[in-house]
Amino acid sequence: MVFAHTHIAYDDVCGARDVLFKHPLTRLSFIAAKVAKKAAQLGYTTMVGAGSVACIDVYLKEAIEGGLFDGPNLVPCSRDIMAAGPIGSRNKEKVTHIPKDYMPVIVDGEEINQVVNREIDDGAKIIKTFATGDDQFPNARSSEELFSLAELKQIVAIAHGRSTLVRCHARGLSGIKNAIEAKVDIIDHCSYADQESLDLIQENNISIVPSFYQPLQYIANGSKYGKHPEESDFHIEVENTMNFLPKAEAMGINIAIGDDFGFAWTPHGTYHQELITFQEKLNIPAVTIIKWATSNGAKMIGEDQRIGQLRDGMQADMILLSADPSLDIHALANNIEKVFIAGKCITG
Ligand SMILES: [Zn+2]
Repeated sequence: MVFAHTHIAYDDVCGARDVLFKHPLTRLSFIAAKVAKKAAQLGYTTMVGAGSVACIDVYLKEAIEGGLFDGPNLVPCSRDIMAAGPIGSRNKEKVTHIPKDYMPVIVDGEEINQVVNREIDDGAKIIKTFATGDDQFPNARSSEELFSLAELKQIVAIAHGRSTLVRCHARGLSGIKNAIEAKVDIIDHCSYADQESLDLIQENNISIVPSFYQPLQYIANGSKYGKHPEESDFHIEVENTMNFLPKAEAMGINIAIGDDFGFAWTPHGTYHQELITFQEKLNIPAVTIIKWATSNGAKMIGEDQRIGQLRDGMQADMILLSADPSLDIHALANNIEKVFIAGKCITG
């Protein structure tokens, strides 16, 4: 399986501050290694980064490929390339406490060139950026824009010029449309998508990684962790996602799985719950969910000739199950017997 939106170093975080400062980096590296190893054992043979703290994806990939421990194929993502706020309200003073090595927060658009190039120099295969805020962010809500259309276009031009993908956090509709117009490769969340934006997503061959499970968990359990889900509009995002996801699938849009795991209400290792939720709450057929979790994820990263299917000439990333997941997706939670990565059994 391909987990298409990974924050490998989120450790039961409760917000933006936790993401960066919950642990010293040295400790966080060990935690990320443990998460990666566990993900592979659960059958996630490829994990695609979606914004990494302090470039940890790149170092983790090197550690796995160097044989330090068994882990998934890791597609390393850049640090979050974040804007201090919407244009016109970016305050330098508010971001001085964030080390650029952890997460570059852009105040002045002039910095974009240097920041994006540095991520690629550091080894990122995907650039992560933000067309909108998020009702969980301190700097802008889901409906507000963060990077402008012109800035997104600049980010995409640099990344594509260096054969690097761009994935864009976009929840609100105007940000989704900016992301499409900027020609990003992947739209994360896509929460307020309407028919017009879905048509454009299909036309431009953009992959989407929706958010359905994480907002549901935040609404149900966020208050246990001191959060105030009632102040977010996540219930509207969930409702719209329920509405557009079956349409997007029917239109042939490339949908991949991997919601925001690593929050206190979506701990790492519980990834199968997202798949079960698609089956139980949206009545998505198990075979479709399996396609989202395998070949669609491979297609998203342009690796569909190497991984994502079982056929001649493909890398032997495989899961051996004692029940048929195409009949009931719960098999992926309960019946994994062995996991193979590139033909090597990593589960003993
Ligand atoms: Zn995310």
